[in-house]
Amino acid sequence: MAIKMACSSTLANSTVAISQPRSGALNSCASSSFRGGVQFECNARVVAVQRRGKFSHVCAQAADGGRGGSFSDLAVMVNDCSGKMGGSVAEAAIGAGLQLVPVCLTGPGMGRSFSIQGVNVEAVDSRHREGVIDHVLKEYPYVVVVDYTLPAAVNGNAEFYCSRGLPFVMGTTGGDSEKLIEDVLQSGVYSVVAPQMGKQVVAFQAAMSIMAEQFPGAFSGYKLQVIESHQSTKVDTSGTAKAIISSFQKLGLDFDMEEIEMVRDSKRQIEEMKVPEEHLNGHAFHTYRVVSPDGMVNFEFQHNVCGRSIYAEGAVDAVLFLAKKIRERTDKKLYNMIDVLREGNMR
Ligand code: NAD
Repeated sequence: MAIKMACSSTLANSTVAISQPRSGALNSCASSSFRGGVQFECNARVVAVQRRGKFSHVCAQAADGGRGGSFSDLAVMVNDCSGKMGGSVAEAAIGAGLQLVPVCLTGPGMGRSFSIQGVNVEAVDSRHREGVIDHVLKEYPYVVVVDYTLPAAVNGNAEFYCSRGLPFVMGTTGGDSEKLIEDVLQSGVYSVVAPQMGKQVVAFQAAMSIMAEQFPGAFSGYKLQVIESHQSTKVDTSGTAKAIISSFQKLGLDFDMEEIEMVRDSKRQIEEMKVPEEHLNGHAFHTYRVVSPDGMVNFEFQHNVCGRSIYAEGAVDAVLFLAKKIRERTDKKLYNMIDVLREGNMR
């Protein structure tokens, strides 16, 4: 990940100067009291009073039921693209030809300016978020937010996006997931919530879940051993491991989540888990061993990820998926990564 720190200016208040070139100032086609996600409420009547231009085009697509058309006005705001995952998502979004909003929210006291692949980004202290979003919505009404922040910020950020009508992809793990889902459903905001965005890992997760549904108890009496290794800064247990273990439990294996073995020691990671040294600071290795009661039958499942690009690419797919759902004005508003996978038209 290449984040160059271009300068050290920090926005002291919520006044945001967005200087990045963009595709054109877009007008809202909703009432002035509506404070977010404005273009998604377009209808044929409103299109008729819009000036000619890209926004009318987007409205026309929405009114058209979302058939055809491009996402030329789609912008992606990545909170926090000064963080490790956010930076990777910002790079992937630019790589996919999407417009990166050159401002993001960051943790308290962490505001700064930097550059991502030639895009100068201003990371603004999240305490000034109302003002920041006022500006972003004005400049980039067709925006989808991606959140890769910290577990402690998940619910507060989701509540905020919901309150502002901002469609969002929540990649951050942790927080109160039931509350998150409740808030999204109540708000009617379009959202993809995915604690695991690696599409291939999600596909494996789904396959395990299908196996558990189809063959409950097939591994009764077998013993399960789970070992996972992540960068030493990850203090909590792998949520993906927990999801896969819940399928193993349905397959008849008796296993307590407390039994997951976490490896955070670099020596063990290199020698035992075979993590390449250059990925000690960013990897997710998982091994599940399933052994028959007499020890004569042994299964081993592994998913070992180095780096962050698999999650970043998945987040971009989720953004495109969400933009399509918004354009189609689907009744369903809350999605997960399996929904994204099922759509089947990923890049
Ligand atoms: P990081 O520490 O590098 O970055 C987090 C950033 O969030 C920091 O820069 C911090 O200042 C900022 N932040 C804190 N509070 C904020 C707030 N209220 N608003 C905006 N920004 C705020 O962490 P990371 O390695 O990038 O990981 C971020 C999250 O992504 C973690 O929860 C991690 O578990 C999760 N993750 C998810 C997936 C997935 O596939 N869904 C994959 C990898 C990591």
